[in-house]
Amino acid sequence: MSEYRFHLEKYSCGSKTDCPNCGRKRCFVRYIDEQGTVRFPSSVGKCDHEQSCGYHYTPREYFRDNPEAVSNNDRRIERIFRQSVLHTRPASVEPSYIPDRIVRASLSHYDRNPLYRYLCGVFGADETARLFNLYRIGTSVKWGGSTVFWQTDETGKVRTGKIMLYNPVTGRRVKEPQARVSWAPA
Ligand SMILES: [Zn+2]
Repeated sequence: MSEYRFHLEKYSCGSKTDCPNCGRKRCFVRYIDEQGTVRFPSSVGKCDHEQSCGYHYTPREYFRDNPEAVSNNDRRIERIFRQSVLHTRPASVEPSYIPDRIVRASLSHYDRNPLYRYLCGVFGADETARLFNLYRIGTSVKWGGSTVFWQTDETGKVRTGKIMLYNPVTGRRVKEPQARVSWAPA
């Protein structure tokens, strides 16, 4: 689970609820799912009274206590999007980067992007567009239209892109007759 996907709800008038631990009014902030897939029960959140109450039930603890809360589909989608986050140790040599204009140019032609078309059927067009924008997932011309996961480092620079071909009907990766995986720039 990425930490940034689940975060405390930003304060807006009336968004705070009563703490399930100390019972005080409007001091409890709930966790929400940035992707809108998981709905947490009202006990998942944090009390403002850190000293006197200290109640803090995190999404990580919730998923640990309720492993069935993560559906298989959600886990698969989570895996798909996690590819765009690069976890690297600091490079000992100056790495090369992909120019931002190339990344930006790829964030289009989604009608030719098989994964995008599949996810539109699962989440709807608005949510799919939001996710692709959030994770900066693009379209490659390879194989007549495929999906590119730009791998971005801690400083926001793009090191490489993993290009993969998906079946637009099943949402599964194409592995026959061979796995369709490549790297950008090819
Ligand atoms: Zn409390």
